Amino acid sequence: MFLRHAKTEVLQVNVGKLCNLTCAHCHVNAGPKRKEIMTRETIDRVIDWFARSEIPTIDLTGGAPEMIPDFRYFIEQVKALRPSRHVIDRCNLTILLDPGYEGLAQFLARHKVEIIASMPCYTVENVNAQRGEGVFDGSIKALRVLNSLGYGGDRSLHLVYNPVGAFLPGPQAELEADYKRELKKNFGIVFNNLYTIANLPLPVSLPTFVATINWKSTCSF
Ligand code: SF4
Repeated sequence: MFLRHAKTEVLQVNVGKLCNLTCAHCHVNAGPKRKEIMTRETIDRVIDWFARSEIPTIDLTGGAPEMIPDFRYFIEQVKALRPSRHVIDRCNLTILLDPGYEGLAQFLARHKVEIIASMPCYTVENVNAQRGEGVFDGSIKALRVLNSLGYGGDRSLHLVYNPVGAFLPGPQAELEADYKRELKKNFGIVFNNLYTIANLPLPVSLPTFVATINWKSTCSF
């Protein structure tokens, strides 16, 4: 099996390890006390390089990327580029409702930012066990705000399932159907797609890894 270089479609930028959560499965050890955040000077250098590339999409991840002071500046600068570029925000949902982040969801909607949001399960017990007490309720509230702004409809909102522990996620299509049914029935929430990922390094050969895992570029999910 040969790996071939193809056209680059997405530039993923990790802007730091600062996060409002401390999830059990976090593979970058993000949290509220982390100091590593991308400065404006570095953002400007990234955008300068990105502008000279033909890459159509930039994908912001962290930590909680929204927590860096220049998050909105970053998106505004990307959106001002010509030709226009697509922006993805890897969002943990709860940050959208935290004090100090008022209007953030509206800002993302206004700039047509695609949201890929971590949601480890559709049950309160599993989400809180993995992400912390109260995170499920916060995530549901944030999803309702996003739905009210058109996310899950015309605006792209995708959820991410990633299991804790040394096992692979189940079939993506089946899990997506479960998520859609349960979130709609219990909370009236809609979303576009569910991505199943595995965060942990796995002791398998590369061809096996490529062949068996439906892998999306992950953030800190
Ligand atoms: S998994 Fe994501 S939301 Fe959780 S602590 Fe890590 S960066 Fe934050």
